[in-house]
Amino acid sequence: MTQTPSQSLYIYNSLSGEKELFKPIHPDRVGMYVCGPTVYSNVHLGNCRTFVSFDLVFRYFKHLGYKVRYVRNITDAGHLENDADEGEDRIAKKARLESLEPMEIVQRYTVDFHETLAKFNNLPPSIEPTATGHIIEQIEIIKKIIDAGFAYEVNGSVYFDVLRFNQSHDYGKLSGRQLEDMIANSRELTGQSEKKNPQDFALWKKAEPKHIMRWPSPWSLGFPGWHLECTAMSTKYLGQQFDIHGGGMDLKFPHHECEIAQSEASTGQNPVNYWMHANMLTLNGKKMAKSTGNNILPNEIFSGNNAILSKSFHPTVVRFFMLMAHYRSVLDFSNDALVAAEKGFMRLMAACQMLSKIDSKETSSWDVAAWRQASYDAMNDDFNSPILIAQLFEAVKYIHRLADGTESLNADDLQLLKESLHAFLFDVLGLENVVQTDSGNKLAKTVELLIAIRNEARTNRDFTTSDRIRDALKDNGIILKDGKEGTEYVLE
Ligand SMILES: [Zn+2]
Repeated sequence: MTQTPSQSLYIYNSLSGEKELFKPIHPDRVGMYVCGPTVYSNVHLGNCRTFVSFDLVFRYFKHLGYKVRYVRNITDAGHLENDADEGEDRIAKKARLESLEPMEIVQRYTVDFHETLAKFNNLPPSIEPTATGHIIEQIEIIKKIIDAGFAYEVNGSVYFDVLRFNQSHDYGKLSGRQLEDMIANSRELTGQSEKKNPQDFALWKKAEPKHIMRWPSPWSLGFPGWHLECTAMSTKYLGQQFDIHGGGMDLKFPHHECEIAQSEASTGQNPVNYWMHANMLTLNGKKMAKSTGNNILPNEIFSGNNAILSKSFHPTVVRFFMLMAHYRSVLDFSNDALVAAEKGFMRLMAACQMLSKIDSKETSSWDVAAWRQASYDAMNDDFNSPILIAQLFEAVKYIHRLADGTESLNADDLQLLKESLHAFLFDVLGLENVVQTDSGNKLAKTVELLIAIRNEARTNRDFTTSDRIRDALKDNGIILKDGKEGTEYVLE
């Protein structure tokens, strides 16, 4: 494999609001933490997009030669519906509804989560810790925050004192919110809750008698607040300060803001150098929500079993569709957009096949090295996958010209093109060449059969049948090309 050139990578840091040159804390190593799912229902498509986005980041760092420790947690302790404060936790609620043990719910949906992400060809993280496996670490952090004077105990529960913290620190620096505005806009009246201030958040909650998931602690038999688990697990496996923390845009506030506060209160250090947030996914221009029916599950896309779809789509096509938008942009999901993405994907795969049959010439008429560097430049600009994909289509254009002889490449350049195209498509973007595997193979065999029948018809001067086959294939985006060595086909 040709050496990957050294690259200057810029990452948009949500904390500064700017693209910053990536400088790892330890040379050639990257520590990355991404907030994982709460496993109480099937993983939804918006979450899949977030995890595909961070899989791209993980893959690109690996491709550049970094040793990456990618930690992504499983929230299995359940967290409270209403901002880690009042009410029943989601996992316990689902367990009650389905008459299952909470850990049965956790197991069922953890398996679903892994299976779904595997279909998208996401690489597993290096460590996948669970919240329930890190209760002791969470209790230790609470003790430190209390000792530092930034948390207080009331009736067996412990709350983070946001006002106190904000006197010496900046609560709101990630989300850009001002504590004064939060207080002014709060509808919660002080005195109605055991918290000193509505903005305070739970670090530990005393369990109600009906609460099933509970652990002993110095304060009560209870359970940790949701924000705390990520502070405990990220710093345990990546250190008090680490390179990258990612998650969905909706986690910026309060979850990630609270993580920063917890770390700064317990260690005095800012925990994360680069905060990355993946944007949301809409469906036909509207927010996805089960309650309105504007909702689709990943498996419904793969089976085609949903009224908004005209057909099924392979997971790698859905992945390609997701990567056609930059991770910080809103992505709108629709049947038409998926159909268009599938056409583009098939063109890329067909070009790959075409490239394998092209022979080198004496000289090169196209600067492959410049094309390759421009492709890296796209990824180095905050993982800009849509620009990289545009670069790949630029290569497709040249592959067609190489095939018809209007452009040429010498042996070294041809090899560089093959290796680079393969690396970008399959290692970095994480696509799968399904044209050469299941459905694509069936398609190829079917088209070849139709070509054979058409050739027979032409030999018999039955031009009505031969034209009918050619036109019907053309209507479906398959173009037949008759040449000296027989008939070939290309996907439109
Ligand atoms: Zn988290």
